[in-house]
Amino acid sequence: MAPTSPGGYCRQCGARTAVVVPVGDNRPRSVCGQCGAIEYDNPKVVVACPLYEGDRILWIRRRTAPYAGCWAIPSGFLENGETLREAACRELLEETRLHVRPEDLVLYGALSLPDMQEIYIALVAPLPSHDYGTSAEASEVAMIAREEVESLDLGYPEPTKALLLGVYDVIARGELDRLSARLWDIRGFDPAAHDRS
Ligand SMILES: [Zn+2]
Repeated sequence: MAPTSPGGYCRQCGARTAVVVPVGDNRPRSVCGQCGAIEYDNPKVVVACPLYEGDRILWIRRRTAPYAGCWAIPSGFLENGETLREAACRELLEETRLHVRPEDLVLYGALSLPDMQEIYIALVAPLPSHDYGTSAEASEVAMIAREEVESLDLGYPEPTKALLLGVYDVIARGELDRLSARLWDIRGFDPAAHDRS
């Protein structure tokens, strides 16, 4: 697994970095030759947000790469400082113009894609209103039933598609109200007070 920035520059001090296996580690990292800072290249978290009403789920048609022109569930990468629910609400607003209350989002499932260095976490919520619309990221926004999805060009690798299409099965079985996995949003935690380095 190659680091993302071999031979790059240190984010801490700007000096040149080199790809080496740090002492006590077991895989190559990008390490600063001047200050010794190590750049860890870890998986990114994607939050996906299927909104449901009846037997339909809200989909968008992507304007932007990757998968421009394909249909997708509103989703996006977590930013630093965001909880999963906050990221979901932000992405829903940016992509569909819908305001979803964080407390209405329930953990549906998670999926690891180590070959893509991504983790997908899906949160579901009832559609809050029909005031959705197109955006800079979505050329179309629509509530779509399971049987209609088959004819669409979906912008997902197969495993991710299975995770998200599974929401239709949960709806069909009437089990959406019974999702019971817990999701905690921890605020006010001071990392410095727990520093054990
Ligand atoms: Zn440095």
